[in-house]
Amino acid sequence: MNRLDHLRAALDKLDDERLRRIRRDIESPCSPHVVIDGRAFTAFCSNDYLGLAADSRLTEALIAGARKWGVGAGASHLVSGHYAVQRALEERLAAFVGRERALVFSSGFMANTGIIPALVGRGDAIFADRLNHASLIDGMLLSRADTHRFPHLDMAALERQLSASEAKTKLIASDSVFSMDGDVAPLRELMALAERFDAWLLIDDAHGFGVLGPQGRGAPAEAGIDGWRLIQMGTLSKAAGVSGAFVAGEATVIEWLMQKARTYLFTTGSPPALAQALIASIDLIEKGDERRAHLAALIERLTKGLAQERWKLLPSRTPIQPLIVGDNATALALGADLMKESLWIPAIRPPTVPAGSARLRITLSASHTLNDVDRLVEALDRLEKTLSA
Ligand SMILES: *Cc1c(COP(=O)(O)O)cnc(C)c1O
Repeated sequence: MNRLDHLRAALDKLDDERLRRIRRDIESPCSPHVVIDGRAFTAFCSNDYLGLAADSRLTEALIAGARKWGVGAGASHLVSGHYAVQRALEERLAAFVGRERALVFSSGFMANTGIIPALVGRGDAIFADRLNHASLIDGMLLSRADTHRFPHLDMAALERQLSASEAKTKLIASDSVFSMDGDVAPLRELMALAERFDAWLLIDDAHGFGVLGPQGRGAPAEAGIDGWRLIQMGTLSKAAGVSGAFVAGEATVIEWLMQKARTYLFTTGSPPALAQALIASIDLIEKGDERRAHLAALIERLTKGLAQERWKLLPSRTPIQPLIVGDNATALALGADLMKESLWIPAIRPPTVPAGSARLRITLSASHTLNDVDRLVEALDRLEKTLSA
């Protein structure tokens, strides 16, 4: 077998294990109501929690931004690729989340893989929740620091690991809202441990920003945690509906990250027009209490509607509502049957989630209607009776 045959065999193995992923080419804008292969579907799979990704006000802001700033940034930020509108966005973000300064990255994956190696290195130690996002895990590996992964949300285990560590610099890293489970980390307890053991606390608020806290200021604002050791990252691609990510915190920390995060230094600046769309998006998030209230009503409708099912929703108060199915084949079959009913919810399988916990990751958006949720509940009800265990 040559190298290519090895790849072919490995791809075949993905098929055997029902782990091969496919992409669907959507023929309409991001919305709960999409067109695929000419057919209309109601989708429960995007992270566009506030329904802003195709909002006409953001489209107009992006067009106006492109007219004013053109399309490309031309260079990396610290060379000649940083624009006034991007500074304005950073100032708006810092004020919105109540921190001294913010720095915008091209994506959340780049933010996490840049932040962690800038703060810790060989001989230091990182303490990470086992269900953290892949970008935090990769950032951890890139840093070459010692890594300690604690069982999901287990503060007692984290405390034991911290007290046993003799590392000079310690960093605790956690998602605020876990992307495949929808549950929320105990941020105040994490902060208390960070203070007690003199550690940095990096919170990835990808799914909290825009959704949780007063005016959607995020999970740290909801928990009321603050202080120089808190480094909060948020994505601008989920509730904010655009693209990119930010890190916010004490000014010295942010300056250090700007000097040292390699995923900031060695990449071309993102298109400045995006910053103009994002400033408009922060305004909509801030004024979005009605959208958040509707989202809460949708969450309640779904959790009540599915309370009696064979498949159980994980306990979650966020728009991420995973329905645990178990094995890969059943999760895929259920997803396929829902598609026949014009409902689109992707099956999430290992390695994204632990083996044996394949699930339908239902996500809700403020652009869903109560009727959309009712249709999903009714379809699952029917399928529960027909699909064999
Ligand atoms: C989506 C996500 C990221 C990555 O953000 P992108 O902007 O999509 O690269 C990071 N962390 C978490 C928890 C996420 O869900």
